[in-house]
Amino acid sequence: MPTVIRPADPRRRRIIVPVSSPLPKDVRVSFEFFPPKTAAMEQSLWGAVERLAVLHPAYVSVTYGAGGSTRERTHATVVRLRTETALEPAAHLTCIGAVREEIDAIAGRYWEAGIRHIVALRGDPPEGTEVYRPMPGGYAYASDLVAGLKQVADFEISVAAYPEVHPEAASAEADLDNLKRKIDAGATRAITQFFFDVDVFFRFLDRCRAAGITVPIVPGILPVTNFARVRQFAGQCGASIPDWMGDLFAGLDDDPETRKLVAASVAAEQCRALHAGGVDQFHFYTLNRADLTFAICHILGVRPQTVAGVTGLGLKAAAD
Ligand SMILES: Cc1cc2nc3c(=O)[nH]c(=O)nc-3n(C[C@H](O)[C@H](O)[C@H](O)COP(=O)(O)OP(=O)(O)OC[C@H]3O[C@@H](n4cnc5c(N)ncnc54)[C@H](O)[C@@H]3O)c2cc1C
Repeated sequence: MPTVIRPADPRRRRIIVPVSSPLPKDVRVSFEFFPPKTAAMEQSLWGAVERLAVLHPAYVSVTYGAGGSTRERTHATVVRLRTETALEPAAHLTCIGAVREEIDAIAGRYWEAGIRHIVALRGDPPEGTEVYRPMPGGYAYASDLVAGLKQVADFEISVAAYPEVHPEAASAEADLDNLKRKIDAGATRAITQFFFDVDVFFRFLDRCRAAGITVPIVPGILPVTNFARVRQFAGQCGASIPDWMGDLFAGLDDDPETRKLVAASVAAEQCRALHAGGVDQFHFYTLNRADLTFAICHILGVRPQTVAGVTGLGLKAAAD
């Protein structure tokens, strides 16, 4: 039976356009990596960076471990991206485990190293801590951090947003007020927590716009490789897993190859539906792996590009 199109809702009408419709031509992507702990992880990170660099992302960001645990590794990775690649790196920075002066000094070092973009977060406290308590002398919330960073230098600042509400927020309205505070303090982009139901994103976007938040709200896309782990992680961060997704991955726990194919198709469909609804920027949680993200970008019409003065891999030419 053909799908019934409700003309009163043009966005929804576009959303049901299938993946086989003409390729988007206006998509911009960004990629998130985490700092490696071991030599083997280092190798897989830089392998992923090389593979994805040719897609010419708007920027690539590097996370800051929970509890501030990766401060030096994050710094080293971001600076290496700056010095050895043609990519635009962004450093994640959190309020956890340091007083304001320390955080300002880290930010100052980033500015001196040529880093102009910070993803400013409150952060999660170290594992085992039940309730978040601001550190005396520290930045209490991300909005305070954004304001502090703007005092250090004129950084471009991105912040986190939660289509399904941050689990510690007093209410959905309070969470939206918080996002507005972060934008008013100087952030110019919000990147969302991952989600799987595109309607969840569009409802959130509508609420942001109604609240006067006009900056880009960029969907955070998590290509699912390990469904069991994602289910567990989603529970912790308040993201819901639709029933259809559980059904799709059922029986594949011991079949990573099929899981990967299913994962690519789920994420591609999610992205094409978001694009059909007007979204043209996507932030990928790569988990330091290139394959799924590369495939999904391909389906989004994002293809390898060569940039003047840069090798095919997006790494700076040796003669540089
Ligand atoms: C795109 C993205 C990237 C991330 N990267 C990292 C990372 O690199 N490292 C890491 O450790 N974590 C990271 N996180 C996770 C993030 O740190 C956690 O979700 C954290 O719990 C909240 O961070 P936030 O910046 O959203 O906090 P905030 O915006 O400060 O909000 C935190 C909570 O406090 C509430 N709140 C805010 N202000 C007040 C106030 N004045 N009074 C009372 N309540 C208030 C908010 O409603 C919310 O519930 C990331 C999340 C996203 C979406």
